[in-house]
Formats: sequence, C-alpha cells, structure tokens
Amino acid sequence: MSATEKLYEGKAKILYTTQDPDVLLSHFKDDATAFNAQKRGTIVGKGEINCTIGTALFKLLSSKGIPTHFIEQTSPTDMRVRRVQILPLEVVIRNIAAGSLCKQTGIPQGTILKHPLVEFFYKKDELNDPLLTRDRLLLLELATPEQLERLRTMALQINEILCQFFRECHITLVDFKLEFGIDADGNLILADEISPDTCRLWDAEETDPKARVLDKDRFRQDLGSVENAYQQVLQRVQSLLNT
Ligand code: UDP
Repeated sequence: MSATEKLYEGKAKILYTTQDPDVLLSHFKDDATAFNAQKRGTIVGKGEINCTIGTALFKLLSSKGIPTHFIEQTSPTDMRVRRVQILPLEVVIRNIAAGSLCKQTGIPQGTILKHPLVEFFYKKDELNDPLLTRDRLLLLELATPEQLERLRTMALQINEILCQFFRECHITLVDFKLEFGIDADGNLILADEISPDTCRLWDAEETDPKARVLDKDRFRQDLGSVENAYQQVLQRVQSLLNT
C-alpha cells in the first residue's frame, strides 16, 4: 500500500495516511534532535536502523501479549501502523539513574534503582515537557485514573520483557521512553517507537562511562561514533533473533 498524504512530520518520523483510514505509514528519518530541538543533526542510516530495531521490539512485545500499533515493516525505513490518538504523555521507565533523574534529584548517575521507576512527562514542547505528578496529570485530564493504572502496568511489563531481551544482547537497558495511544476500538495500545533514540542502552561488557554508551547520548553529548553505536545495537538485536 503506497503512502498518500503527509499527516504529521515530527523530529524523527513522518506519518502518512494510507488508503485504509485506520492505518498509517510511519517513515523513519535520519534527522536527530536533542534538548527540545535546540541541537540538530543527522545520524547516517538511523532511519533504517531504528525502523528495523523497532520492528523487532514491537514483534517481541506483541508475542508477549502487549498490544502495539505495529502492523508490518514495509521497507527498511517504513512501517505500517494502526492509527491511534496519541496521549500527550511521555512514559519514562528507569532501571538505573541517568539524565533528568540525576539532574533533578542528585542521585548519582549509574545508581541501580531498587525498583523500576515509572514517570510521566507532559508532551508539550512549549513547556519543555515537564515532569507531571499524578494529580497534575489527572487535573489536566491527560488520562483517566484507569488509563493511568493501565499505563503503569503495561510500562512495567514492557520493561521486564525488554530488560531480559537486551540482557541477552549484552546490553543494559538503563531507561527508555514510551508513548501510548487509543485505537479506533478505544483500546490503549503502545505506539511511537522504541529505538536507541528513545532508550539509554549501555554495553554490558564495557565499564568506561563514555565507551559503553550505545544510544542517543552519543549525539547529545558529542561522544562521537554515533552511527557505529546504533549499528552495534542493530547487529546484536539481529544476531540474537537469528539464534
Ligand atoms: N527520552 C526520549 N524523548 C524525550 C525525552 C526523553 O526518548 O523527549 C528518553 C531518553 O532517551 C531516555 C529516557 O527517555 O532514554 C529518559 O530521559 P530523561 O528524562 O533522563 O531526559 P534527558 O536526560 O534525555 O533529557
């Protein structure tokens, strides 16, 4: 099914309508942004890598009973997805302290958390995607109390599945961001993408705090070898799936 009309262009993807009103085509770009798009660049081959990793992870999650928007990968950079109404929330799950958690709480980077932490951020560029409390989230009617519980449950289930999968790839899943949407039947399902753009992934066999980074922090922090790191993740994911 060919792309018909551009519906939305985001920082890393373009969504197109298709002949089927319930199906969209998600095109993954090489463009990279960080710090609320203040830093912009290109990661050569990222579109292909993220689309392929995302496909593998959505298939894995579906096989474990997690409902996702993924239908099929149609080209190296494109996937067909179910059309959803995206909730304006970024659901972040953390296993190890990094990034904004360290900045806002003073917990040292690399601290292993006793339990996975689920956090909700308001997806609103003008406000710089602020961290929400449960009460603020409900006040803003960004989700119902039932949806909030379901989001938390699904986020923790997804974390367990992904932690185990990445462990087998010799990668530590430090933290990651998920987005969810409501499909045509009113179901809450996982949407957007899961990739080195949206996860912190550390090489489990590397202790050097810079050398171990296999994700977008290489771009954010100008660590170099960004393409190589993304490629590493893809290769490990593919070789695990082929065993
Ligand atoms: N993240 C993301 N998109 C965002 C913000 C965060 O994919 O707009 C991911 C990020 O890659 C990391 C996790 O969510 O894996 C937690 O990010 P954090 O809150 O620490 O913010 P950051 O340090 O990236 O600003």
